[in-house]
Amino acid sequence: MSYHALAIDGPAGAGKSTIAKLLANKLNYIYIDTGAMYRATTYKALSLEVDLEDPKEFDFLDTTEFIFKNGELYMDGVNMTSLNRSKVVADNVSLVASHIPVRNKLVALQQEIAKGNHVVMDGRDIGTVVLKNADLKVFLTATVSVRAKRRYEELKNIGRNITIEDIEEEIKKRDLYDSSREYNPLKKADDAIEIDTSDKDIYQVVDLLYKKYIKIINEGEL
Ligand code: C5P
Repeated sequence: MSYHALAIDGPAGAGKSTIAKLLANKLNYIYIDTGAMYRATTYKALSLEVDLEDPKEFDFLDTTEFIFKNGELYMDGVNMTSLNRSKVVADNVSLVASHIPVRNKLVALQQEIAKGNHVVMDGRDIGTVVLKNADLKVFLTATVSVRAKRRYEELKNIGRNITIEDIEEEIKKRDLYDSSREYNPLKKADDAIEIDTSDKDIYQVVDLLYKKYIKIINEGEL
């Protein structure tokens, strides 16, 4: 049996995780949030007090366990959902994610998961690197102010005390870092469809992508 995959990339707050989760539910696929893996790696590096600038300090990944259960990441048995949302993690994750050994390790783990499961995977390099043969690749965008507002609502709901202005700064900085890094930057795959979600209803986008995806899968099986 061959496994199917839907890849979703884009900058912070473009709607990736909400859309990916809803699609995974509709399709009965596993949702893999690769950003959570980079965030958890950052969290562990901070806890171990390693030099975040030094790519050689991330050997601990060789003995780190990442497991997804119901769309949530568990690192070494600990649910990372709220730990991953702290400011110190957000401030350092792009630096950690720019290290080649970190990317190689996490990409290999992501590919391993997709080898044995139907997946909806979201991140920055899924269509360009992790799942180059995905059945459908999507690149989501939205204006900075819309993205900041969405992140604000999300963080407010989990009780993080932050202003919209701070979030706008944070995501601008991260996007610049993520798209200008040399190794596997945030970039639209040539064969990805691009959707600007700024003034679209999330459910409309999910519906459109679901129909498109089902058509592709059905055609492939004819
Ligand atoms: O998706 P999320 O905002 O949680 O991602 C956090 C950070 O992890 C991104 O800003 C980026 O630096 C990094 N990331 C990455 N490649 C991925 C997913 C996330 O470099 N596939």
